[in-house]
Amino acid sequence: MAPVSVVAKSPLDSGNVSAPSSPLNIEQVDLTYSTSRGPLEAIKSLSFDVAPGEFVSILGPSGCGKSTLLKLVTGLLPPTAGTITLAGDRVRGPRREVGIVFQQPTLLPWKTVIENVLVPIRAMGMDIAPKRTVALELLDMMKLGKFAQHYPSELSGGMQQRVGIARGLIHDPALLLMDEPFAALDALTRELMMDELQRIWMATKKSVLFITHSIPEAVYLSDRIIVLSPRPGRVLQIVSIDLPRPRTVDTMSDPRFATLSKQLRQIFQLMQQP
Ligand code: ADP
Ligand code: MG
Repeated sequence: MAPVSVVAKSPLDSGNVSAPSSPLNIEQVDLTYSTSRGPLEAIKSLSFDVAPGEFVSILGPSGCGKSTLLKLVTGLLPPTAGTITLAGDRVRGPRREVGIVFQQPTLLPWKTVIENVLVPIRAMGMDIAPKRTVALELLDMMKLGKFAQHYPSELSGGMQQRVGIARGLIHDPALLLMDEPFAALDALTRELMMDELQRIWMATKKSVLFITHSIPEAVYLSDRIIVLSPRPGRVLQIVSIDLPRPRTVDTMSDPRFATLSKQLRQIFQLMQQP
């Protein structure tokens, strides 16, 4: 396969949008839920950073607090202890520097593709007119330029998820949060989407915090992988992925890919032991 081409200029680089900055800093964060059965510690003493333009994956067993971590970063949930800093400012509520891509694209079926991409702009009360051009450029980048006036039901699962990514990027966030965005897709579409996401990330230079269950997905995409322990989630290990970019199908047969995947699998095996 030919190397993944990189778009020289991003729609987000042009005009009224800012250059990427904003690293994320998570410092000694605890999150304890109050439940009818008493307190439930979901996250404990969690600390890590995401640098500008860095692709970081969070890999951890089910129920270890990954989605909770995302809610904390979006400002929807205040931490019980510790601090979360975005673009140098402490997170105290929802912030525009963050874009979110969910596991299900959750598109509004009665709105066209472009109107779905523009939903966050309306929600934030921003001026729609200048963002229509950005939305069309983003849809072009997602290879969906011809589908702007279509409805979600006319799109495949992978195409819908790409609309979800465009919607996550429409307000030019410095940090894109992705919660298992490909988990609902079939295996082949998932592999295609990995390449698409790498291409989009290389073109937009965003920081990405990517949550996944999948070791190959994390190794293929990440600069660093943060492995979380079973609940309460804390950092068990940070693994740097030094594979060259762009990564291609050849990357998967690179012995270094196998070594890194094995190293991560062993961490999970150790976790399962009593
Ligand atoms: P993950 O995304 O890693 O699977 P979650 O962050 O969704 O894990 O959940 C972590 C733990 O917190 C789980 O034990 C879950 O049952 C619990 N939990 C999640 N949300 C709530 C909530 N709103 N109230 C109480 N407990 C919750
Ligand atoms: Mg989750």
